[in-house]
Amino acid sequence: MAEAIIRMVDVNKWYGQFHVLRNINLDVAPSERIVICGPSGSGKSTMIRCINRLEEHQQGSIIVDGIELTNDLKQIEAIRRDVGMVFQHFNLFPHLTVLENLTLGPVWVLKKSKAEAEATAMKYLERVRIPEQASKYPGQLSGGQQQRVAIARSLCMNPKIMLFDEPTSALDPEMVKEVLDVMVSLAEESGMTMLCVTHEMGFARKVADRVIFMDQGEIIEQNTPDAFFDAPQNERTKLFLSQIL
Ligand code: ADP
Ligand code: MG
Repeated sequence: MAEAIIRMVDVNKWYGQFHVLRNINLDVAPSERIVICGPSGSGKSTMIRCINRLEEHQQGSIIVDGIELTNDLKQIEAIRRDVGMVFQHFNLFPHLTVLENLTLGPVWVLKKSKAEAEATAMKYLERVRIPEQASKYPGQLSGGQQQRVAIARSLCMNPKIMLFDEPTSALDPEMVKEVLDVMVSLAEESGMTMLCVTHEMGFARKVADRVIFMDQGEIIEQNTPDAFFDAPQNERTKLFLSQIL
């Protein structure tokens, strides 16, 4: 495989006494699209949050775009510039308009001019198909629209890697598709490296190069989506799939 853009080597993490990540080894190729699934509490969020240092690992190494994650704040900042993240709850600023939510990072962190940041913001609002919502406040939008704003906000920072943590699981069912559609077109058109925690198997089959199954802090099984869903090997994977499909 091409030089990994994310490399996790023997990563272990504990919350106090609780061993939450166990010997995680994962190489992600540039432009690779990975779906991560597994039971609640299996460590999926913790694993992807370690990639941009929202959580700290205690053993092993994590190298993102050639930079090793250590306590060096400069390196953490550099990595965070490369890595965008979209959460289950959209985490938009409620007192700022959609456009202001999108331009805040580019103006303050990337030092873009307001005009340039707004032009970029509008480009990405078009891409997530809600340019007409630019001057509204998050509270005036549906959950699906807010999540699309959150995706656009990440894209405005021009990341190389996007992490999604159950981006549709807080949405009403009728809004799931509009968010997944945006993510599918992003995957197909952008060539961005994507890691997505989700149980949306249709999405996984459509866009994932690889599906990873976690249980109790370990990567138990990984495969192409078709092989993973049609012929799971591990008993725990089979049990999990029988419960969600
Ligand atoms: P998942 O995303 O797969 O549901 P998480 O990574 O959120 O799993 O959590 C894995 C385990 O770690 C769970 O048992 C959870 O309760 C525990 N956990 C998560 N965050 C913390 C924390 N900040 N402190 C202590 N335990 C935590
Ligand atoms: Mg989680």
